[in-house]
Amino acid sequence: MRKPIIAGNWKMNNTVAEAVVLTQEISNIYEKDYSDFVDVIICPPAVDLKSVKGVLEFDRQKIAVGAQNCYHEPKGAFTGEISVKMISDAGCDYCIVGHSERRDIFGETNAMINDKVHALVEYEGKKMTPILCCGESLAVREAGDYIEFVTKQIEAALAGVDIFDSSKLVVAYEPIWAIGTGRTATPEQAEEVCAAIRECLAKILGQTMAEEIRILYGGSMNEGNVKDLLAQPNIDGGLIGGASLKADSFVYLVKVAAECSK
Ligand code: PEP
Repeated sequence: MRKPIIAGNWKMNNTVAEAVVLTQEISNIYEKDYSDFVDVIICPPAVDLKSVKGVLEFDRQKIAVGAQNCYHEPKGAFTGEISVKMISDAGCDYCIVGHSERRDIFGETNAMINDKVHALVEYEGKKMTPILCCGESLAVREAGDYIEFVTKQIEAALAGVDIFDSSKLVVAYEPIWAIGTGRTATPEQAEEVCAAIRECLAKILGQTMAEEIRILYGGSMNEGNVKDLLAQPNIDGGLIGGASLKADSFVYLVKVAAECSK
């Protein structure tokens, strides 16, 4: 059985002081044994990483920290960018890659995302795991070829990438029409695509690896829909935007994921 993951994507929210308060609120209501049943990750803005990590370490919480983005080059004249070594040094074990906001607003292409996945997977310091996002727009869904669209994103992102350890990759299926809109995919819609992603992973990385890799759903996951989504056989957790900004909502999702995996 795959251990579920609940990952919070704070996006561009929270100053350092606000991040510390939210992390303390999460830590205060987080029961330590949740971590036996679910892997929990907080992905704050880059400037908050060290402070969030510091609070979690001080409280001895087994909650990991992830970055929301990185650049694939190791160092140099890349104004505004952050390397894999830098996010690792700031305490990250994970990095979100290819979020639809990065693709749509910042023009990230499949080729750029592939470079980032290479840089993260091949990083020789501490282990670093990409949370690889994929998902179709409403237009693509309505046109009916969303499975082909999403599996092509996965194939492009993983081109030439060697994965020998299934914990070195997490995939997040996030239909763009469900992100921040309150319009969640139904459990059946999410399951259909997550199952197709697993088949696609099997073709690229082999059946055993594909069975072990965690595939998350993201898109308006909340207290009301989390149970039904996590009950699907190919949905191994959630990448959470809005609901990760409130401690009680986020920890409730963690609690449900822990209960589902007991
Ligand atoms: C996200 O941006 O990754 C996300 C899933 O956001 P929300 O939960 O707010 O839809």
